[in-house]
Amino acid sequence: MINASASEVSTSSFPQQGLYLLVVHLPTAASLRVGKKRIINFPAGYYGYVGRAKKNLRARLKRYLSPYRQKHWHIDYLLDQAVIHNIWTSQDEKLISLEKEECRLAAAMRHHFPCQPPQLTGLGASDCRCPGHFIFLGHNLPQINLVLTQLQLMRRKINGI
Ligand SMILES: [Zn+2]
Repeated sequence: MINASASEVSTSSFPQQGLYLLVVHLPTAASLRVGKKRIINFPAGYYGYVGRAKKNLRARLKRYLSPYRQKHWHIDYLLDQAVIHNIWTSQDEKLISLEKEECRLAAAMRHHFPCQPPQLTGLGASDCRCPGHFIFLGHNLPQINLVLTQLQLMRRKINGI
């Protein structure tokens, strides 16, 4: 698990643009406020959060890893209780229809992990119309890693982890 503070984190091996997927671990079930009004029950387990960056991806990821984070995105609320376990990115830095690619990756994840808690619908997808960019991945980390590798994502090392 990654607990290093942002200043210690080296993201130099990361691309500056493209898709990214955070694998986040929530050790125990939690009811968390998300946004201003919604309270959502999150089962314990691993979650995937799919995002995209047209630039400054490294700074974005450092922000996620920082404990001193203003809450802006839905993922920020989950990160109050959950820990970023790993970060995956697309292998190339192509920008063609990145928005579509982001929703397509989320859809592929839902296909591989079909047991989605209904309360997650719409999370992380304020600027698109797909069912959401939060995907509940269950508890089987080797299976999660296998699926992400099959989807041609690359696991990026953070400080050798
Ligand atoms: Zn979407």
